[in-house]
Parts: sequence; structure tokens; C-alpha cells
Amino acid sequence: MTYGINRHNNRPEWIVIHHSETAGPADATLAADAFDRYHRKANGWDCIGYHGVIGVDGSSEAGRYETSSGAHALGFNTRSLGLCLVGRLDWEPPEKAQMATALEWIRGWMQTYSIPPERVIGHRETYLIRRGYDLGQIDAMEWVQMECAGAEKTCPGLSFGMARLRSQLSQGPQEEAMLEQEAESMECEAPPSDVQETRLSRLIDELRARLERMREERAK
Ligand SMILES: [Zn+2]
Repeated sequence: MTYGINRHNNRPEWIVIHHSETAGPADATLAADAFDRYHRKANGWDCIGYHGVIGVDGSSEAGRYETSSGAHALGFNTRSLGLCLVGRLDWEPPEKAQMATALEWIRGWMQTYSIPPERVIGHRETYLIRRGYDLGQIDAMEWVQMECAGAEKTCPGLSFGMARLRSQLSQGPQEEAMLEQEAESMECEAPPSDVQETRLSRLIDELRARLERMREERAK
């Protein structure tokens, strides 16, 4: 279901990723209707603040109408879609199934609203963009320092690499899945001889390096 009233006051140009900062088995099952109740009660909003919520198990639910402005990122609410991953992602990265569903949602929105990968951002990055920083020109160290200095938010969690996500989004899903699968399937093969093993592990390393290089290049 979709929540609230369709206000037709949102023109999505950005996708903003969040985490729920909730943990534990009870919280992990938090679904959109729980957020809906929570947001209404805690914030006095008319419904859930996000446009989509992804559960730890990879299940997902729609939140507000995509054409209704969100309530999730100051300065971006009338020109973005807000996606929330359930969990406390400062310490643990999202589950594989959860990330897979998140990618489906993000890719779907990118296509529907013609949003480029560089406009898929983390909540924490909205503060930097509002201050005029160009995300593409900030290197990792400078980034950490600014985050510490700003310390407004780590959302969607320190373990959630936004630059990595953007580079992943800028290459075709098949291309990446193929490389990943290739590396994985090689690891699962029957125990090889010493010589084979050396060759095999070198090949796996090469594949991994190629994948990394691809990601880094796209991140630039
Ligand atoms: Zn957030």
C-alpha cells in the first residue's frame, strides 16, 4: 500500500539512502506501517517520511506516494525519493538480500525518473551538498575529516559506502554480476593441485582487481 495523500509536490532528481538505526530481532522486522505509525506519533507528520522501506530479509514496502514530497532529508524533500534500509548500518553492512532489493529499487527509480548514479546519495551527504561540496572531488581522507568535523549524521551508516554504490550503479548489473559470479564459482570448484591452485588464485585475484578497478574508475 501507499501512505498519506498524493500531493503532487515532489519532482525526484535525487535518491537519498537512509538506515533506520534500529537493531535487534524485533526491530529487524519493522515494516512500513510501523514506520508510518512511528513517524506520525513521533514527528506529527501525516504519514511515513520515506518513499520505500527495505527489510533486513530483503522484503520491501512502498511508503509515501513518489509524487508526494518526503520528510527525510532537509533541503531535498521536494526533489528526491527517500529509501530506508532497516538496520543499524554503522557497524554492520546490509545483508546480501537486503542490498539486492535496495539495488532493484534504486535502479528502478533511476530509470523511471532519469536519475544518474551521481545523484544517488546518502543522507549524510546531503549536508555536504547543501554546503556546496562536489562529491566527486572529495577524496576519502578529506571525507572522513569533514564527517567528523560536521558529525551531523552518519546515515545510512559508516559501513555503507556511497562512492562504491554509485560506481556499482554506473555499470550494467549484468556486467558486474558476471564478474562476481565468475570469481565465486572458481572458489567453489573441487580442490585443485598445487600448480592449479596457484594459477587459480592468481586468476581470482585478477578478476577481483579488475572488478575493483572498474568500481574505482566509475567512482572518479
Ligand atoms: Zn537518514
